[in-house]
Amino acid sequence: MLFVVSAPSGTGKTTLCGMLLAEFRDVKFSVSCTTRPPRKGETEGREYHFVSRETFLEMVKRGEFLEWAEVYGNLYGTPKEPVMQALREGRDILLEIDTEGAMQVKRNFPDAVLIFIAPPSIKELERRLKSRGTDSEQAIRKRLSKAVKEMESARHYDYILVNDKLRVAYEKLRAIVIAERCKASRVFDAIREITERRS
Ligand code: ADP
Ligand code: 5GP
Repeated sequence: MLFVVSAPSGTGKTTLCGMLLAEFRDVKFSVSCTTRPPRKGETEGREYHFVSRETFLEMVKRGEFLEWAEVYGNLYGTPKEPVMQALREGRDILLEIDTEGAMQVKRNFPDAVLIFIAPPSIKELERRLKSRGTDSEQAIRKRLSKAVKEMESARHYDYILVNDKLRVAYEKLRAIVIAERCKASRVFDAIREITERRS
């Protein structure tokens, strides 16, 4: 099962995905490839590849990405092979990507479960971006104006979840993952029953 979590930057998707991965040890976190330099401590607990723009574009040409997008002037993409391999092994995958990438995944994998994390308000989003302390004033303004556009794409998602109180939002995210996993296993059980009855 492919879960895609997307949200305007600063909404809390990394925080929520981190909580999910700490609980669901069998879920594999997305590998991500980007042309921007790593931030302090960023590679901990996740697979990030930092490559040059030239290398990234070569990989695009070779069709090595599941999706890719230009976000805030940097290129980001999900290397295809590790995701396909984990899906073949019957594992669940969690991709944390921007809204353009999420739409690309949905086109390629109609069964992917798309979860949009919405901020409680633009004011609160601004507060969170400032509290993270990694962006300049100008970068924050860019992120906020992109956020307004991203909110419009929320209607294409399977689930929309407002991250107001973190605990409450996490419980909702957890419930979605559990429900989707149950649905998938019921479908597999039903297929197995039908094929066994036939043989
Ligand atoms: P994203 O991955 O969407 O860019 P982060 O997970 O990095 O967002 O969160 C941005 C900031 O907001 C972090 O400082 C994080 O601790 C904080 N944050 C996340 N969720 C909440 C919440 N529900 N209430 C208050 N602060 C939050
Ligand atoms: P950053 O905070 O790193 O400057 O911005 C990261 C943005 O790029 C976030 O919106 C994040 O979801 C998105 N992103 C991270 N990895 C990927 C990826 O592999 N593909 C896509 N499409 N977006 C990604």
